[in-house]
Amino acid sequence: MKGMTLVIYLDNAATTKPCKEAVDAVINGLEHYGNPSSLHSLGLEAENLVNKQREIIAAAIGAKEKEIFFTSCATESSNTAIFGAYAYQGKRKHRVVTTAVEHPSVANPIGKLEQLGCEVIRLSPDENGQISPKAVLEAVNDDTFLVSMMLVNNETGAVFDVGSAFSMIKKKYPRVLTHCDCVQGFMKLPFTVKKLNADMISLSGHKIYAPKGIGALYVKSGVHIPPLLLGGGQESSFRSGTECVPLILGFGAAVEALCGKVEENYAKAKAVQDHLVEKCARSGGITVIFSGGSPYITSIAVQGLKSEVLLHFLEEKGIYVSSGSACSKGKKSPVIKEFHVPEDLSDSVLRISISAETTAQDIDTLLEAVTEAQGRLARIKK
Ligand code: PLP
Repeated sequence: MKGMTLVIYLDNAATTKPCKEAVDAVINGLEHYGNPSSLHSLGLEAENLVNKQREIIAAAIGAKEKEIFFTSCATESSNTAIFGAYAYQGKRKHRVVTTAVEHPSVANPIGKLEQLGCEVIRLSPDENGQISPKAVLEAVNDDTFLVSMMLVNNETGAVFDVGSAFSMIKKKYPRVLTHCDCVQGFMKLPFTVKKLNADMISLSGHKIYAPKGIGALYVKSGVHIPPLLLGGGQESSFRSGTECVPLILGFGAAVEALCGKVEENYAKAKAVQDHLVEKCARSGGITVIFSGGSPYITSIAVQGLKSEVLLHFLEEKGIYVSSGSACSKGKKSPVIKEFHVPEDLSDSVLRISISAETTAQDIDTLLEAVTEAQGRLARIKK
């Protein structure tokens, strides 16, 4: 990005630029250097600040303060939830139900449980990119101890009806633990723990304009899974390790800045997504492969152009997008295939992920650059 004037950042599902409130809060947090576990006043001050952020995050999802535990990232949150569920019930029950399109932070720990002898049922989206709550219920049996289903898919933006699925499961199998990766939905779509009917929810700071390295796990009162990290007993003995006060303050500030704006920002993002979809439909050779889920994520494919080539072409112009999931570092995504993307387009998928600040003008600039790439790169190929 050195020396470049134009920056159009359309990779917000990978990470976001921290907002001013979060940056200021992190700096402020560095000044409050007391250890929240210390008994003196500096420790107490840090502890109070941490608990204030816990209160803000709990309120944002309709949880109780004591149900929120700070972690280093959503990956840690999901690992804690999944291995915790296994430690709690995995000796007596063996089945885990999940989707075939989870983020690796959920898919890989569940894969590990499979190696340990669990039976894993992975549900694929239907032609419309949906997984019906009934299909999830039907996959659950008396031998099931965990159902883990994401709210918003990070590659396509597909939104799953987790609330209905979990409610149906809880009615028939009240002892099954339910976990939801809400990373791409938190502070973007309105939801509450009650509506989701989840026992455990993973959240991340850096997708919502807070810094990287901070996440949270919601664990419903009365759900007793063991901790993943053992040590000094911080976070009510559920997550040992001295709390990172500055990052926690940054997380709380970012959430607070978004509170009350979720619906307004959603409407703004939807208008920008509609503009993108409409313009793609009118342009030649650009296919929208998934929209209609979260307005913040749209997957498109530019016929005949490999996504990585196009990504670097756009980068030269200061436009940043992603080819599939940034976490997969350019590896072909198995998730995209699950969303029934035609084989000839699967190498050409770009993920456009916007923020509440993205404008229709940004989209126009993106599409002008794509059109230029179609002309220039097609000539090279001849
Ligand atoms: N879950 C989803 C849906 C994501 O998109 C991501 C990040 O890309 C994660 C989990 C992992 O979050 P973190 O980087 O906080 O571990």
